[in-house]
Amino acid sequence: MPETKRVALFCSDLDGTLLGLPEASADFRRIWDSLGDDRPVLVYSTGRLVEDAMRVIRAGGLPEPDYYIGGVGTVIHDPGAGGVIPDYAEALSEDWDLAKAIEVVRSFSGIEEQPAEQQNECKSSWFWHDASPADLDRLRAALDEAGVTAQVIYSSARDLDVLPRRANKGNALRWICGKLGVPLDEAVVAGDTGNDSSMFQVEGVRGIVPANAEPELIEAVRDLDAFRARGECAAGIIEGLIHHGVFPQHRS
Ligand SMILES: [Mg+2]
Repeated sequence: MPETKRVALFCSDLDGTLLGLPEASADFRRIWDSLGDDRPVLVYSTGRLVEDAMRVIRAGGLPEPDYYIGGVGTVIHDPGAGGVIPDYAEALSEDWDLAKAIEVVRSFSGIEEQPAEQQNECKSSWFWHDASPADLDRLRAALDEAGVTAQVIYSSARDLDVLPRRANKGNALRWICGKLGVPLDEAVVAGDTGNDSSMFQVEGVRGIVPANAEPELIEAVRDLDAFRARGECAAGIIEGLIHHGVFPQHRS
């Protein structure tokens, strides 16, 4: 039986979640568009920066969202209001010093800066091939020593992101819900990898995990309210939205 609790906002990752299976993405679009005016607020939350996210949703045929959360929670973009929400960037920027963070990373050898389109005021991104846990600890210690309150995120044995301590997808979701007056238990989230776990961890939020999710996410949501779908990517998200009562159970 689908749940009947109200869903006022749906916040989803893109790659491997709403994107990845083109036919399922098209099905999602069709059903979403059929919901009419009382549909939930739609938010996309991605590691991509906003311009890039706009490009991939158009290429993938997904509906336009009400908000974008870009750069792993470092920027919130409101297309209706014409762009980036400065209040959020200001909230993140407290005790964050980008110039100092860059200086510290540059003092390490073997780390190369990623292209400008991967960078923003609150996201400093680098390539560091095969860094060991000890290397990352050295970098964290150097940032601490320089007084930069940052988190160091390393993935794919290559990509290094240095972000303000509070920047993540979960905090960005909290911020949007607060701004819109949406109770957190009226939000549903979806995602497939480790950087999505902070959304599932927001208190009261319900989740959808597609079948292709990475083990690190499955482990992180084990004790949380997350629906484990049988389908991959958008096919799993459609199942989850039926489960949460957002999409109709019987559809043509
Ligand atoms: Mg993903």
